[in-house]
Amino acid sequence: MRGNTVCRIESAGHASSLVSPYNEAMNQEREFDIVIAGGGMVGTSLARLLADLGTGGRPCRIALLDRVAFEPDKTLFHAQPERYDPRVSALTQASKALFSELGIWRHIADMRQCPYDNMQVWDAEGTGSIQFRAHEVHQSDLGSIVENSVISSALHQGLSEQSNLTYFAPFNLTSVKRDESDTLLIGSEDGSAVRAKLLVAADGANSRIRQLAGFATREWDYGHDAIVTTVETERPHRATAWQRFIHTGPLAFLPLAGDGEQRHCSIVWSVVTNEAERLMGLSEAQFNDALTHAFESKLGAVRSSDKRFRVPLRQRHATEYFHDGIVLVGDSAHSIHPLAGQGVNLGFLDVIALSEELHAGLNAGRQVSDSRILERYQRRRKPHNLRMMWVMEGFKHLFAGRTPATVWLRNFGLTQVDGAGPLKNLIVRHAMGME
Ligand SMILES: Cc1cc2nc3c(=O)[nH]c(=O)nc-3n(C[C@H](O)[C@H](O)[C@H](O)COP(=O)(O)OP(=O)(O)OC[C@H]3O[C@@H](n4cnc5c(N)ncnc54)[C@H](O)[C@@H]3O)c2cc1C
Repeated sequence: MRGNTVCRIESAGHASSLVSPYNEAMNQEREFDIVIAGGGMVGTSLARLLADLGTGGRPCRIALLDRVAFEPDKTLFHAQPERYDPRVSALTQASKALFSELGIWRHIADMRQCPYDNMQVWDAEGTGSIQFRAHEVHQSDLGSIVENSVISSALHQGLSEQSNLTYFAPFNLTSVKRDESDTLLIGSEDGSAVRAKLLVAADGANSRIRQLAGFATREWDYGHDAIVTTVETERPHRATAWQRFIHTGPLAFLPLAGDGEQRHCSIVWSVVTNEAERLMGLSEAQFNDALTHAFESKLGAVRSSDKRFRVPLRQRHATEYFHDGIVLVGDSAHSIHPLAGQGVNLGFLDVIALSEELHAGLNAGRQVSDSRILERYQRRRKPHNLRMMWVMEGFKHLFAGRTPATVWLRNFGLTQVDGAGPLKNLIVRHAMGME
């Protein structure tokens, strides 16, 4: 990565001079080869992956923009003992490898991460269960649970030394237009704007760009809301990720590092909407009891729980990932049920593919917005993301069924897969992003 000049950090207020006809120098400075809109985990990873991208013998000019300026001091929980970010990600081996390649895994490890070497999944109605163990696939762990604020903070470390990058925040993108010079003019709420040859939409599940540019989607409500919070349990989690499938939705206990006693877990409790309302209305003691009961006291009693957050779950998939110099990555292209913890991992695979195709295309003398580059990206990622979404959909329906035949079938299936070494290994290697 380049480190000889300092990346420009600018506020949207300054960026407004871009569209001023009086300031030619400013205009030129604010033209970019690639603008990445959305500085979440996915957009920032892409910005880092493009650090050495070049075109025509010069480095590509990249802009990363977000409506909210990243402030590590405000978002970091790990500096405070026993305080945790309620948003965590189960990172696959593939995502961990990406962070190692970017040189930021060591920052994550220095802050806080919990490798898990065991995963237990079982059916609330019956005796079917399955256990995945890292040693069965010759790995030291199956993945790591990391707080989203830790990932974002690590991604931002050293970003300011990336010489080809300008970071605009706050920049609330409100318009995208193609102008007379055939570049994209990307406008913000306060009237400021930047120009780009290629616009990457990394602006999340409710992507403004996807809507403005008229990308079609297939989408439907899962009829589930996820309740997320951090809990302290009576017994240690033993570096195990736990998932119980209940007919109202799956309940996951994800192990957290940091307290020395392995008693903290991040929970994702997906439930049908009216049940979510009820659970959100409970007192802490009532909620802890309900959770202990729903989790069959696997880790003893839930002793305490933090503030609860509720997230409606919606499946959404863009039918095309690019058109007219605009390309979708991460949740702007696809959002899926969190039951298998794959959402952001798929986003990281998107940006790896897009970065590889951009590097290869530019080496072959193409322009950044060349449709052959974007077509290759779409061909690599769309079928894979679609497959994962259908698998999640299948799981959701399979475990919602309560007829005796369905209950028997899934319990029998779980037990059979648990005993079928090669099939089980294939599933786990796929879930780890290794296949
Ligand atoms: C309960 C729950 C649990 C989950 N657990 C896991 C898990 O264990 N593992 C996993 O892989 N995934 C998990 N996910 C999914 C994961 O959180 C998402 O896939 C991931 O956050 C998507 O990242 P992103 O960068 O694409 O989008 P976002 O995180 O949504 O980032 C979008 C960025 O764009 C910015 N933005 C938005 N609009 C604009 C605009 N108009 N102008 C400028 N900037 C804008 C936002 O400020 C934000 O910074 C979970 C999701 C949920 C709901």
